[in-house]
Amino acid sequence: MDDKRITIVVPCYNEEKMINIFYVECNKVLEKIDGYRFEYIFINDGSKDKTLINLKEIAKDDNRVKFISFSRNFGKEAAILAGLEKSEGDFVVLMDADLQHPPALILEMINYIEDGWDSVSTKRISRKGESFMRSHCSKLFYKVINSISDIAITRGATDYRIMSRKMVDSVLKLGEYHRFSKGIFEWVGYDTKWIEYESEDRIEGESKWSFISLFRYAIEGIVSFSTIPLKVSSFVGSLSAIGSFIYLIYIIFTTLINGKDVQGYASMICLIMFFGGIQLIALGIIGEYLARTYMESKKRPNYFIKEDNII
Ligand code: UDP
Ligand code: MG
Repeated sequence: MDDKRITIVVPCYNEEKMINIFYVECNKVLEKIDGYRFEYIFINDGSKDKTLINLKEIAKDDNRVKFISFSRNFGKEAAILAGLEKSEGDFVVLMDADLQHPPALILEMINYIEDGWDSVSTKRISRKGESFMRSHCSKLFYKVINSISDIAITRGATDYRIMSRKMVDSVLKLGEYHRFSKGIFEWVGYDTKWIEYESEDRIEGESKWSFISLFRYAIEGIVSFSTIPLKVSSFVGSLSAIGSFIYLIYIIFTTLINGKDVQGYASMICLIMFFGGIQLIALGIIGEYLARTYMESKKRPNYFIKEDNII
């Protein structure tokens, strides 16, 4: 009987220092796993350092190593998509190149998926070194997204996971340009087994996430999987319309009873600013959706491949 194939998809952006360490560490684990044929697909996401050179070096001596090199940096989501599209394994493992996703878990993941789970995903339990602000913002993000969207996203969930062929094919059927993988993996359904691990700091290189990019990512997640914010603006609008109508009647009556009253400059300014603010926020929310609709309607490819060694 032929061994099952497992494709390991690894997005890499400026990971020259990590590639070799990752490859060596990962191989140590894979050597001990019998009965499977492993292959790697590294995606060089427009790195500006020697990532591609290192990948080619590795691929020269190991025909299980495939690489795809993008024409520029298209982002991790595009890299994940390219990796999944080119993967042919019966199972696909998705992991980062920085060893923050411990390869040692692969065996456990395989055991679960052989038991019949469609996917095994991981959750970080320690967030050492994370600032107070960051951890609170992340808590808030999960609260918001879980209460207003039709999918549930687990806090601390990482992209490190194994998926069955069936699930990968389903994920690939979602042709949206703005891809929020954490949401997509939930949205397609299937049974996911969660395992937990202690997160480690990066050994080399640095995280590509700034506070702003995390904020954009959070907005992406919410806008991709919920249209509630659009409804909130009409709800707030109706409330304020009702409120101002009542206030209008009150003013008419007090003017009729007490005569003209020229005071009220401060409250007028406050109201103008307040409603002006609300209107701009509502416009901004609509803008977020409109911008995405615009981008989706262009049907641009998610990435371009400049070079690869996949035949
Ligand atoms: N990555 C990528 N393209 C990007 C940014 C990151 O392919 O534009 C890769 C990166 O090389 C790494 C993984 O995505 O393998 C996770 O990135 P990072 O470690 O910066 O994220 P964090 O672990 O801080 O969430
Ligand atoms: Mg990392």
